[in-house]
Amino acid sequence: MDNCIFCRIIKGEIPAAKVYEDDLVLAFLDIAPINYGHVLVIPKEHHESSSTIPEATAGRMFRIGSRIGIALKRKLDYDAFNLHLADGTAAGQVVMHAHLHVVPRGVEDGFHWNWRQLQYPDGKLAETAATLAERLAADIGQSGK
Ligand code: AMP
Ligand code: ZN
Repeated sequence: MDNCIFCRIIKGEIPAAKVYEDDLVLAFLDIAPINYGHVLVIPKEHHESSSTIPEATAGRMFRIGSRIGIALKRKLDYDAFNLHLADGTAAGQVVMHAHLHVVPRGVEDGFHWNWRQLQYPDGKLAETAATLAERLAADIGQSGK
């Protein structure tokens, strides 16, 4: 896509600090990192949503993301890493070319996810699971692999 910043990085029209590239994915440093070494892994094909990325490419993104996380621990002295993907504006997606964040983490890095923990009212947990399971059975039945 012509006006997509990440497609332009793939085409070499915009510079990026690349750390990994293969036939399906590209990984480069995020210019505004949570911690130094924060990497983005993107599919070479333009997909706005993670849901349309072919399985082989999605699998590669996850695999390479994990391997980058291990490299961040071994070579940049981090303790751990988060894999994060925002799918949709309400989830915080700003660049509309799907991307997996690999966020290196240290025990005392001062960063915290704003993660709340709600409680289900009576019956709501089972009802929610049943609704989702029914929808997924229908979708996966229709679309196959
Ligand atoms: P998200 O909010 O999940 O869409 O994240 C988009 C990320 O892309 C942000 O963390 C930005 O800092 C990063 N970003 C935007 N433009 C560039 C760029 N040209 N090179 C590297 N990272 C970028
Ligand atoms: Zn794109």
